[in-house]
Amino acid sequence: MQYVSTRGQAPALNFEQAMLTGLARDGGLYVPETIPTMSFDEIAALEGLPYEEVALRVIRPFIGDCFSEEELTGAIARAYGSFDHVARAPLVQLAPGHHLLELFRGPTLAFKDFAMQLIGQLFQIALARSGQRVTIVGATSGDTGSAAIEAFRGLSNVDVYILYPHGRVSEVQRRQMSTPADANVHALALDGHFDDCQARLKDLFNDHAFRDGVGLAGVNSINWARVLAQVVYYFSAAVSLGAPHRQVDFTVPTGNFGDIFAGFIAREMGLPIGRLVIATNQNDILHRALTTGEYRVGTVEPSISPSMDIQVSSNFERALFLAYGRDGAAVRQLMDELKAGGFTISQGALEQLRDSFVSGRVSEAETTQMIRTILEETGEVICPHTAVAVRIARENLRPGVPMVSLSTAHPAKFPDAVEAAVGIRPALPPHMADLFDRDERITQVANDAEAIKSLVLERRTS
Ligand SMILES: *Cc1c(COP(=O)(O)O)cnc(C)c1O
Repeated sequence: MQYVSTRGQAPALNFEQAMLTGLARDGGLYVPETIPTMSFDEIAALEGLPYEEVALRVIRPFIGDCFSEEELTGAIARAYGSFDHVARAPLVQLAPGHHLLELFRGPTLAFKDFAMQLIGQLFQIALARSGQRVTIVGATSGDTGSAAIEAFRGLSNVDVYILYPHGRVSEVQRRQMSTPADANVHALALDGHFDDCQARLKDLFNDHAFRDGVGLAGVNSINWARVLAQVVYYFSAAVSLGAPHRQVDFTVPTGNFGDIFAGFIAREMGLPIGRLVIATNQNDILHRALTTGEYRVGTVEPSISPSMDIQVSSNFERALFLAYGRDGAAVRQLMDELKAGGFTISQGALEQLRDSFVSGRVSEAETTQMIRTILEETGEVICPHTAVAVRIARENLRPGVPMVSLSTAHPAKFPDAVEAAVGIRPALPPHMADLFDRDERITQVANDAEAIKSLVLERRTS
């Protein structure tokens, strides 16, 4: 299995190389050369299997011979062993025909753990084999950072630097990044918003001398391995609800487009997903793009669902690449136009995207109201991101087709927004109960790639 860049000018790589690299050298994102499929019978056979076994069967065809069956089985077992629910991604019924997929049972309480725990294990196997040392730099709107730190802290051959937007993450999110005492962990508060963090990260990757000098690796959802790990729970959830014998719809609270793109891949593999619904908060570039065909960057408006406060959705580039018939030159052109503020999606590509995705946007007031409504109707306390999904899902329910809303974070990660909505302050689980008593370590950095590079180089040599 080979991976090719969405911009068509970087060498094809195998799975391991694509995972260790992150961003392609031409600035593009890696996608599989072909998407493997699973037959009706293979999907039906997933019913009742442990999550880890479903993961093995779904992931294996994408890995080629980069990891042995034994290595992969071990990595998956260690990745999900720390989750606090035996189903790993349990389903909870909200209403007849509407289910929540709880993706916050991992160590840092957001769905990012599903991918990060697994790639943490796969990195360790690959680095032990090669004797390489890598510098991971990640950009986060809040949840990726803590998940990456948890997955890589304390490892001797990895340094991990996380760029987060200063003052724009929740206090729980910030403390999850700033309190780990491990010397290889560096929480960097960048003076800017998430899109700045992501843009500076890309600057680092595009400086090939720096990139090669420090062994730069990326674990944002630009990393294909992240997306792949997330494909698994679409299968486990849909099969529990009757797939492949019936269709299942999904609604995904969306920011960087990684999670929903994993659902798209699951469908391409043969899983009978009907509607795949993009739910955005007031930062609605994706909803506007699908509605008008114009992908135009606006200004980020901070919201109560901060993990989705994004204007440039990195993984959308992968969807564009496929919608443009895998035309790397066309994607390159679009990304050049994006630097100047945006682009118009071609009519053909737009039709393809509209066939693949439905979208909706939720205001702040509607988000708060939905947290309230769900508590009243079910007794469940949901996080604001989940509320965004649930609200749009309810507009897209279809008779006879189960709808799954992805519940992407534990409500205790966003206690202020939840308390403002329903007057309940959700408690952190026991392993994090003393989070507010732990010492914090934060370095502030300017919104400047050179400043970040110097900091990384200094800390490497000291
Ligand atoms: C990251 C995140 C999202 C958005 O996921 P994308 O893959 O970036 O679209 C939604 N909700 C929560 C809680 C998140 O942490």
